[in-house]
Amino acid sequence: MHEVDCVVVGGGIVGTALTYCLSKFGIQTTLLEQSAFGTGGSTGLSAATVWCGVDLATTEHDEKKQQLTDLEEDMYLCAKSRQLYKEVKCKECQYMETGALEIATSATELSFLRHQWDTYQQRTSGKTPSLQAEWLNSNDAVRQKEPALSQSVLGAIYTPLSGFVSTPIGCARAFADAAERMGAICAEGARVTNVVPCSDNVATSAGTKRRFMVEYTCESKQTQQVATDHVVFATGYFTDVMQRAFTSQTTESQTPQPLPPTTIVPVQGQIFQLDKEPPMTKTKVQNYPNLQWPQKVIFTVRGYEYWKNHTTSPPKVTHDATGKRLTHHAYLRPRIQGGLLAGGSRIPAGATKHITDEELFHDNVSYMRSFLTPLDHYLALKEEEEEEDFRKKTLEERGIDYWRGTMPFSPNGQVISYSN
Ligand SMILES: Cc1cc2nc3c(=O)[nH]c(=O)nc-3n(C[C@H](O)[C@H](O)[C@H](O)COP(=O)(O)OP(=O)(O)OC[C@H]3O[C@@H](n4cnc5c(N)ncnc54)[C@H](O)[C@@H]3O)c2cc1C
Repeated sequence: MHEVDCVVVGGGIVGTALTYCLSKFGIQTTLLEQSAFGTGGSTGLSAATVWCGVDLATTEHDEKKQQLTDLEEDMYLCAKSRQLYKEVKCKECQYMETGALEIATSATELSFLRHQWDTYQQRTSGKTPSLQAEWLNSNDAVRQKEPALSQSVLGAIYTPLSGFVSTPIGCARAFADAAERMGAICAEGARVTNVVPCSDNVATSAGTKRRFMVEYTCESKQTQQVATDHVVFATGYFTDVMQRAFTSQTTESQTPQPLPPTTIVPVQGQIFQLDKEPPMTKTKVQNYPNLQWPQKVIFTVRGYEYWKNHTTSPPKVTHDATGKRLTHHAYLRPRIQGGLLAGGSRIPAGATKHITDEELFHDNVSYMRSFLTPLDHYLALKEEEEEEDFRKKTLEERGIDYWRGTMPFSPNGQVISYSN
């Protein structure tokens, strides 16, 4: 048995980044991950895009403290993510600051986007750091920033600090490595099986009692123990289940009481990469020398629009009772190797059996080609060349790499906050 100030359960991007931050503050931390860092849940399957509207690095330390309360948490957390990615430099994981465009392709979306722009401005007005964004009110202005977008895009919010992380698994690894260099213990293949209040005889070297005993199994299958004062469940879409299972064992007299369990809504998304075939390995699109794959991150507003205005869970917002999708949400980004990585279609995690990968792909792609010129031209070319054959081919036969993954959401799509 060993003892530490804090045990972090789960070594996805959240658990590894948290362990890194705690270690920077000199808090003795043990990180326990059942698989390899970044691979056991959502992190390794992510598109790893990062939206960022303010630059925390330009402010003094004291001002940063102010931001926590002044800036709304979602903006602060996004900016903090960018800052951490830039800070934990490593070969495998780079923060690619390409800038991002949140686009509108209809009058309704444009008016929603305008409202969003006004809100961003209000929330940051007179505060440090200031909003780093631009309102693009015409197709020309948008296409000057990103020529790959089509005439159907009516406007956009441009955030130059946004971007993506080259490999999310590499990032999780980099955070864990950096934490270890500062004295943290970061264990892979360590599955937490129980968290119980400590019995009275578990004392620290200073003679005081530790609050919790965390039990875990590792490769040897032997149960190991670590005594600690704080346990953080950074277990992604398992978090509420873990919290409920383990906090039920704490006693009423225990102080401070554990935070009440959160509710996590598991949501599935599909990602595909168009880069397996030779034309996709370059930024230029074959046979269209004037067309380039997008060089910026692109988010569509549709879906998000409804999401923000409803308090029901994301699946209910994006789908009707029969599981049929009502709204779209799509995001695209360049890949470092060239080509395109695109994701979309948020669906309830339990209801996906009835939607095949082909159907999802078709749905996502037919939406994306409406605003992305090179994708539309590429698919039109393929369909013309191969006629019916192209559509009959499986995704693999068409050289399209795809996967689905589950991610954690809050019931209303907003940041889960304990601060108020
Ligand atoms: C297809 C897809 C696309 C996405 N695109 C984006 C994007 O572009 N931008 C973005 O910001 N987000 C994106 N996300 C969401 C993002 O990936 C997640 O929000 C994020 O990875 C969650 O990280 P996490 O560390 O909380 O959870 P996870 O990565 O799920 O990590 C939880 C870890 O806990 C471990 N664990 C569970 N139980 C135990 C136990 N008993 N003992 C020890 N370890 C345990 C698991 O093995 C796992 O490694 C996407 C997600 C998916 C699936």
